[in-house]
Order: sequence, then structure tokens, then C-alpha cells
Amino acid sequence: MSSRTAVVIGGGLGGIAAALRLSAAGWRVTLCEQHSRLGGKMGEWRSEGFRFDTGPSLITMPWVFEDLFAAVGLRMKDHLELLPVRPLARYAFADGLKFDYTTDMPTWFETLRQLDPADVDGFLRYMHLGARLYELSRRTFLRRPLTDPPDREAWAAMAHLPLRHAWGSYNSAVEHHFRDPHLRQLFNRYPTYVGSSPYQCPATLTLIPYIEYAFGGYHIQGGLYRLVECLADIARARGIEILLESPVTAIEHRQRRVTGVRLASGATLPADAVVLNGDASTAPKLLGLSAAPLPVSERSLSGLIFLVGVRRPLPELLHHNVYFSADYADEFRALFDTRTFPDDPTVYVSAPSRSDPTCAPPSGEALFIMANAPASDLPWDAAGIAHARSRIMERLQANGFPDIASDIVAERVITPRDMAQRYGMPGGAIYGAHSHGWKRAFWRPPNRDPRCRGLYYAGGGSHPGGGTPIVLLSAHIATELIQAHETT
Ligand SMILES: Cc1cc2nc3c(=O)[nH]c(=O)nc-3n(C[C@H](O)[C@H](O)[C@H](O)COP(=O)(O)OP(=O)(O)OC[C@H]3O[C@@H](n4cnc5c(N)ncnc54)[C@H](O)[C@@H]3O)c2cc1C
Repeated sequence: MSSRTAVVIGGGLGGIAAALRLSAAGWRVTLCEQHSRLGGKMGEWRSEGFRFDTGPSLITMPWVFEDLFAAVGLRMKDHLELLPVRPLARYAFADGLKFDYTTDMPTWFETLRQLDPADVDGFLRYMHLGARLYELSRRTFLRRPLTDPPDREAWAAMAHLPLRHAWGSYNSAVEHHFRDPHLRQLFNRYPTYVGSSPYQCPATLTLIPYIEYAFGGYHIQGGLYRLVECLADIARARGIEILLESPVTAIEHRQRRVTGVRLASGATLPADAVVLNGDASTAPKLLGLSAAPLPVSERSLSGLIFLVGVRRPLPELLHHNVYFSADYADEFRALFDTRTFPDDPTVYVSAPSRSDPTCAPPSGEALFIMANAPASDLPWDAAGIAHARSRIMERLQANGFPDIASDIVAERVITPRDMAQRYGMPGGAIYGAHSHGWKRAFWRPPNRDPRCRGLYYAGGGSHPGGGTPIVLLSAHIATELIQAHETT
């Protein structure tokens, strides 16, 4: 049993996972979270009997979550119930068309056939491209530090390297595979899962729609925040010390080696290894070095969110619903070029009580309504919020969303500014840097700091990137590096 000591800065999902993995490997671990609750972007809000997840609403790659439980000797199914969400989503388009996107293949192929018979074959070829990209990524990028030279498995995975349509623009690959404009808009939405524009990111992100279609989308019974609570309970039971309301103001180091952290209270915690779960871009400041914040032009999307409790059931909604704008390219020009909230936003509505009635009082709906917004430092005043809210409501109503105005009994708005302040992400950029250009899509800050020995990174701001399963992989890679470099 090692008597080595680690401090994890931040109680987001990646931080908790890193703490659990280190503890299982015999490290004495202290986790410092600046806020009064754990979870970071994976948060929860309750009001008037409604329960809302304030961040993620969709779980993918469930085996990554199972793997974390297995790493600490547990079975996830003994602690959490993952519910497959079927159909995956209902899409409503500006021209009035509506259809469900489902993993039930006969039903989905019939939908494709009605949209354009040629798109049945296009869909299969598109998924084949995604499958090869996924196999390649799973055995290289998602499994190991980018800075390590390829091992045998990584070389073997190169057999999956698809040469055609993988390195151009994401939108071009979509247009190559689909003729129907609705399908083009549907599949162009996936890069927003990593806060990016389909018109500027590489086709390599085709692995995202493949992962969702092949492995499904999931909800956690009781809400996604149950995952945070469950992992925190396990961490405490394993003797991990969790310090809430304990911002770390400095990472202490001597002769280019970490020695511990300093808290805002002035207390210091000695450590042999430090894992930063807060955004990697905050590291230079914590190390006492000069640092520039993430430039505006490199920021991923933020979002404008309305959490809305409605006192009547809305059976016309599925768990996940998307109301598309009339001109997707124009919407992304506003989001990334002029960096303004779109006049005509695409709106995502999650109604989790469709899968899990515990989210709302009987006969009510707890809605998570979100439109993409630019990650900017501009304030959101009441007039700006009201203006954006009316744009969102106009799009919803135009696409057939029910009129809920007189039935709203709880409401909270979360602006990009709120996210910037709460999560410490410049401009509220949910996924840190965007994935525009193939190099940026795959080159995130490494999990081991090259400047200071003993400093590691686990979370969405570092390799391999954001999204709940990916930050768990980040924690896995970071803790393997710690085991390799700090225990000899
Ligand atoms: C609105 C929204 C919707 C999303 N939807 C999805 C989805 O559907 N599916 C999905 O998979 N993902 C989704 N995501 C992304 C996902 O939530 C994140 O990628 C993931 O939760 C990030 O985890 P993390 O480990 O990077 O930590 P974070 O959540 O970024 O947390 C970092 C923690 O570190 C703390 N911290 C930072 N600095 C310090 C310091 N100096 N001292 C002490 N504490 C510090 C912060 O307070 C925070 O608690 C969504 C995110 C948001 C915001």
C-alpha cells in the first residue's frame, strides 16, 4: 500500500473519478471543491417539487461508467439504474416536418425511405465511416496520452484508418452521405455535442453520431445528478477526504516539482501528486506563471438554458426533442462569426419525466430548454434574456411546441455569464476550446504537465476532451500516468 498523497483540485465528474481511481490504487486522497456541492457542470436544481439536471441530460458510452465502478471493485448496476432512452429524439423542422430518430432499424429505415430512398444506403455508409473512426479513436486517442508514441494496439488500429471523407469538413461528409435536407440538418447537429460548428469541424467527429446510434442514449433513474451523489458516497466511504467550499488558490512547487496546494483559507495541503480537474487553462495562474485566457475565437459554444416546471403533462414530447431553425448555416455564423445570439435559434427540449416520472410532480413536466449561445464575456441583462427567450419561444411555437405560458410554475434561467462564473470557463464555453480544424479536434492540453513534475489534468479541458464519458476517460488516463510516473 502506497502512503503517497494526492490532492485533486475540483469535484467535477473527472475530479471525483480521479480521486476514486487513485484511492483504489492506494493513494491517500484529498479532493478540494470551491463550491458547496460536488459535480461541477453536472448539477441539479429543485423547485416546487420539480427536479432538474442543470447540465448533462444524455449519457452515452455506458461501459465507461461501468468501468469506473469496476475499478473500485463495484458493479454500477448495484448502485444506479441506467435507462435506455428510445426513440433517441424527436426532430421538428421549420417547414413543419416532424419525425423520430430511433435505433429501431426497421422503423428508422422506413423514415429514411420516405425522406429519400437513396439515404438508406447513405445512412449505412455514414455509420460505417463513424464505426471505423470510433474503432481508430477507441484504440488510440480515447485510451492513452496523446504524447506517448504509438504502441502495438495503436498501430494495429491504423487498419481502420478511413482515407476518404474523414479528413474534410464535417458538413461535407454529411452532404456526401445524405441528400435530404432534414437529414443533413439532423446529422449536422452532432458537433454541438462538443460545442462546435459542423461547418468548421472535421469529419472525424462522425464518430459521435455513430456512438449514439450504435450504443444508445441513456438516462439515470432519479436524474443524472444521482451519479455524482453515488460516486461521492463511495469516495467518502473509501476514506477520501472531500473539502467543500475550499477553493485552491495556488499549486505550490519547488524545483519544478509540485509540493502541494494552498487554499483560500491560507491552509496548505502537502501532496506528492496534484490533479487539476478545474480547466487546464487555469493552471498557469495557480502555478504563479503568466497566462492568457482562452481567446474568444477558440472558445466552444455556451448555452442559454431555461429550467421550466409545467403543471400539466405534455405527452406530445419525447424525452429528447429538437426544434430546428430555418437556416442552420446562418445560425452558426451568428454563434461563431458575429458571436451573437441567433435571431432564429435551434432549441433543444428535454422532458426527462417521459422516461423517469420522479423528475416532476404527478401530471407535470420538468423541462430543460436550451439554445446554443456564443461563449462571450458580454453581460446578459434582463432585456437581453427576455429578447433571447422570445426568439426561443417563437421557434418552439413555429415548430408545433405546445403553448405552456399559463402553466409555468417554476422557472430559472442560466446564462453563459452564469456558467462562466460558476464553472470558471471563459465566456461560459461548456467544452473549453472548440474542435474546429482536425488538429484542434484531437489536440487538447495533455494529462501530464510538461512544466512541473507531479501535476496532472483530468477533465473536459484536457485530453481527450469534454462530455461525461470522455472526462471519465481523462481521469483514467491521468491516473495511469500518475501510477507510471509517481510511484517509482
Ligand atoms: C448545459 C450543459 C449540458 C451538457 N450536456 C451534456 C450531455 O448531455 N452529455 C454529456 O455527456 N455531457 C454534457 N455536458 C458536458 C459535461 O457536463 C462536462 O463535460 C463534464 O461534466 C465536465 O466534467 P469535468 O470533470 O471537466 O469537471 P467540471 O464539471 O468542469 O467541474 C470542475 C470542478 O472544479 C471546480 N474547481 C475549478 N477550479 C477550482 C479551484 N481552483 N479550487 C477548487 N475547485 C475548483 C469547479 O468548481 C467544478 O466543480 C454538458 C454540460 C453543460 C454545462
